[in-house]
Amino acid sequence: MKEKEKIKKKAESLGFSKIGFTTPQSIKGDFLLQWLRKGAEAGMAYMRRYTELRLNPSLLLPGVKTIISLAVNYYPGDVFYKDVKISRYALGRDYHRVMKKMMKELFSYIKSLYPEARARFFVDSAPVLEREIARRAGLGWIGKNTMLVTREYGSWVFLGEIFLTVEIPPDRPFDRNFCGTCRRCIEACPTGALSPYFLDSNLCISYVTVEHKGKIPDFYFNKNNGWIFGCDICQEVCPWNRKAKKTSLKDFLPEPERIFITREKLSSMSRDEFQRLFKGTPVKRAGYEKIRKLVSNLNP
Ligand code: SF4
Ligand code: SF4
Repeated sequence: MKEKEKIKKKAESLGFSKIGFTTPQSIKGDFLLQWLRKGAEAGMAYMRRYTELRLNPSLLLPGVKTIISLAVNYYPGDVFYKDVKISRYALGRDYHRVMKKMMKELFSYIKSLYPEARARFFVDSAPVLEREIARRAGLGWIGKNTMLVTREYGSWVFLGEIFLTVEIPPDRPFDRNFCGTCRRCIEACPTGALSPYFLDSNLCISYVTVEHKGKIPDFYFNKNNGWIFGCDICQEVCPWNRKAKKTSLKDFLPEPERIFITREKLSSMSRDEFQRLFKGTPVKRAGYEKIRKLVSNLNP
């Protein structure tokens, strides 16, 4: 078996759902520059920084020759919210930690094949255009909702990258786009944040609940649909997510206590209770004050 096949097998055995290989060639950045020109990054000032690094992955690790793109299916199975809603990706353990640990294990294996290899790992943590890299590595296409969509797991995937200093033959980029004439995500978005392949974060509930700092924008009051951390609407309606398979990683299986949380419970919860309930999840990073503020702004 060739080294590349061995790495793929190992990745599978560690729990990765998809793996692909690509080169660190520069990325044509028209879509990013246009997005920034329109101010669609809203308060995410960090998106305006390090554009050169985003478009030239080779600057992130001197000597990089290969980028391994990895996807993990986090779909927790059917989730029937009782009251307020927390995005599925945030119901389980923080994916940054879980994936980094898995990637380190994979790199240890790669080291056994290529002792000279050096690497850097990224999980939503550096100026890396993860979705475009995943597309180039053959994992899927970028849908009209701007998410990476895979044929097997839809868009319920976390992405991560291993930048490697050894050369491994790249996979074929995913050059097809299976959105076709579908516009479900665009039509379902309650705030009009989406147009094909373009997300205006200024209008996005996910941005407001996770990233935004300061006064909560007015549109949130009557268009939140109960979302207090993230928003899955444009994924819930995607036909490619209908046949999603439940994740095999128990780290991403949510405690029912988090799914069935109510606004009453959140409103009366002490800081200690909040820390206990959301320990190790992305929600904890949003913080007690912000979540309570959002809950107090939900429409009746
Ligand atoms: S996350 Fe919600 S608000 Fe944001 S684009 Fe998708 S449906 Fe619209
Ligand atoms: S809902 Fe339709 S248009 Fe939107 S990402 Fe899915 S397939 Fe593409």
